[in-house]
Amino acid sequence: MKKILFASSETHPLIKTGGLADVAGSLPAALSELGQDIRIIMPNYQAIKHQQPSRQLGSIMVNNCEVQLLETVLPDTNVTVWLVDYPPFFDFPGNPYVDANGEAWPDIADRFALFCRIVTEVAMNRVDLDWQPDVVHCNDWQTGLVPALLSLETQRPETVFTIHNMAYQGTFDRDTYVQLNLPGQLWHPEGLEYHGMMSFIKGGLAFADRITTVSPTYALEIQTAEFGYGLEGLLSYRQDKLTGIINGIDTAIWNPATDASLPQTYSASKLADKQSNKTALQQRMSLPVDEKIPLFGLIGRLVEQKGIDLVLSCLAEMVEMPLQFVLLGSGDKAYEQQLQGFASQYPDKIAINIGYNESLAHQIEAGVDVFLMPSRFEPCGLNQMYSQRYGTLPIVRKTGGLADTVIDALPHTLNTATGIVFNDANPSALMEAIKRSLVLFDNKTHWKKIQRNAMAKDFSWQNSANQYLALYQQL
Ligand code: ADP
Repeated sequence: MKKILFASSETHPLIKTGGLADVAGSLPAALSELGQDIRIIMPNYQAIKHQQPSRQLGSIMVNNCEVQLLETVLPDTNVTVWLVDYPPFFDFPGNPYVDANGEAWPDIADRFALFCRIVTEVAMNRVDLDWQPDVVHCNDWQTGLVPALLSLETQRPETVFTIHNMAYQGTFDRDTYVQLNLPGQLWHPEGLEYHGMMSFIKGGLAFADRITTVSPTYALEIQTAEFGYGLEGLLSYRQDKLTGIINGIDTAIWNPATDASLPQTYSASKLADKQSNKTALQQRMSLPVDEKIPLFGLIGRLVEQKGIDLVLSCLAEMVEMPLQFVLLGSGDKAYEQQLQGFASQYPDKIAINIGYNESLAHQIEAGVDVFLMPSRFEPCGLNQMYSQRYGTLPIVRKTGGLADTVIDALPHTLNTATGIVFNDANPSALMEAIKRSLVLFDNKTHWKKIQRNAMAKDFSWQNSANQYLALYQQL
């Protein structure tokens, strides 16, 4: 049995801004089910304070701040959560990283540097908890200083650092470094310095004993200039310590056989029941009800990463074809307006819902035939996995986790195919893939076979947790 300290700046359902929270909310529970002794450590934000009873464990003095450590449990699990309580930094509402205008909190470096110091103290068993982890598993830049600080200790636990998205690095100016009062010996080009700036993520990339990211393909991509954001050299230098492990999905929440958001549940052996979900979705989105017309869907943040511009470039041609398209998402205002423009011009073809709506997301996954995910980059991606589980065939670009989780439908892959994969991030490549899906859709025998292949895939957390456990055991 391994003792694991899992450090994360967000954990579902306590607080969530993105995929990291899903991982932190699921992986520790899956590891605990595999018999491991795992504790989560995270900041005690106001939202948690107000929703979650906790008990006091002790107090720690670091860098002139007196910090309390509280203990609670992750809802619906038996996983212990340690909350780093320092009200001047964490007792605020809303998003952990940005204010209501989307600007980074001015003292964000101080906040997460303090968090990292506390994780280090707990990892070194200096807080009277009588528990020292074998492994400290850190996630994203907010925890990047932990492997760096631990590198200065003797008798330290091993460290794992997981990259959920290379686009966020926690970079600050040199004055911040000085002000944070961090050890001078970590300030060098092989350490926390990055072109004269300080980089939190480099602490993880340079000092962790193992680095992981959330798909094998993304692990390769981030070693190139296109995806590495300036750190590709360091990542390729450390490639023998770098691996990719695909995230799991919550197979209880995303289960078409039991999903309470659906007008009609269904399974691979009752695929015909999927149809009622299509009808209900067409009604809900005010599209003409038509069983036969292929219905395309997209759910997600409307940002460049997700290839929304590619979809916009294809829409003019798509509306000339026998198909319908529904989209749920929000993001860049320019994208939102262009999409709504198409919907008002072609109300019997395109329906757009701007906003965040979980039950509608489930209904779209169940109701559409084809799911579009033409991302420019995608560390792991979840929707392509939900789609497959719901017998909805994804069209994905061959990048990151999309490349690793969808098997392209080709003449010789009928027994394994689960969707459609295209290579280039341009509108004609996406259009080609859409046309391929229409041809496939007309061949009902092949379509059903591919739906069943997709629904039979195992995207559970148990699978991923076993791979993390194997990694811990190698350390
Ligand atoms: P990312 O983390 O880059 O946004 P993922 O595909 O990994 O992309 O995860 C996005 C998650 O958020 C999925 O569970 C998706 O269904 C959900 N989601 C995104 N936008 C919306 C929305 N507008 N309404 C409901 N769920 C959404």
